[in-house]
Amino acid sequence: MHIAVCIKQVPDTTEVRINPETNTLVREGVKSIVNPFDAYAIEEGVRIRERLGEGKVTVVTMGPPQADSALREAIAVGADEAVLLCGRAFAGADTWATSLTLALAMRKLRPDVVLAGKQAIDGDTAQVGPGISCHLDWPQACYVSKIRDIRKGEAIVECLMETGKEVLAVELPAVLTVVKEINEPRLPSFKGKLRARKAVIAVWDDQAIGADPEKIGLKGSPTAVNRIFSPPRRGGGEMIAAASAGDAAKLLVAKIKELRIA
Ligand SMILES: Cc1cc2nc3c(=O)[nH]c(=O)nc-3n(C[C@H](O)[C@H](O)[C@H](O)COP(=O)(O)OP(=O)(O)OC[C@H]3O[C@@H](n4cnc5c(N)ncnc54)[C@H](O)[C@@H]3O)c2cc1C
Repeated sequence: MHIAVCIKQVPDTTEVRINPETNTLVREGVKSIVNPFDAYAIEEGVRIRERLGEGKVTVVTMGPPQADSALREAIAVGADEAVLLCGRAFAGADTWATSLTLALAMRKLRPDVVLAGKQAIDGDTAQVGPGISCHLDWPQACYVSKIRDIRKGEAIVECLMETGKEVLAVELPAVLTVVKEINEPRLPSFKGKLRARKAVIAVWDDQAIGADPEKIGLKGSPTAVNRIFSPPRRGGGEMIAAASAGDAAKLLVAKIKELRIA
């Protein structure tokens, strides 16, 4: 079974800073890591191969040349092959163009299943996984917390819902986005690190995946960020001090009435 895993390199911070002029993330001086949800996707890909005793795991990322290090991290924990989608034509992609680019790479790779993280911690849209499935016209299952069974042509998965779990039979090839409940990612072994250092990473540009330059990158992005900002901090609020909860409730009701009159 051929398992493709989409991974994204993201800034190692939750304090994402925005350039107010360009409305893009400030990446300078910020260490990059593999998107945490993608670590679970890589681990699941490797576990599927191990469970079946055959197959290969190919990790794929669209990003700048330095995203090479994210792919090597994936090889260090067990991925077999890696593809870096890199080139000027891919720059400035929104989620539509990103998922189209990844979908074209999948057409070339022809995997049995595509795994992705639930969402990226920088862009945070959770659109790319479902987007890939739409561009390919393949089924999708999101928030996958367990793969009960997987074989050529079908997977049985559990998906997290707000109030429980849903068990789905998914026809393959399909795109599955995973949540952190699915497994515990392993740490890289010494042998894995050596393999990662020596690995040859395939680098594909727009021509390699047969992309129309008008449909990818900035040109192929139907959405644009007009403004991006952190919401202003809320005021301090007012503490209601009272001898008992009942008294506090009475004071609160009085306050609310006062506000309604105003
Ligand atoms: C309206 C809009 C405009 C944007 N404009 C720009 C821009 O001009 N320039 C710019 O640099 N960025 C831009 N972005 C950000 C860029 O589109 C996103 O970083 C990218 O499309 C991924 O979206 P996300 O981070 O929300 O990923 P999510 O959809 O949250 O990611 C889900 C999963 O998809 C996979 N995935 C996501 N991205 C990749 C990738 N690149 N390679 C492999 N797998 C991936 C991972 O498995 C990930 O866990 C824009 C985003 C939006 C919403």
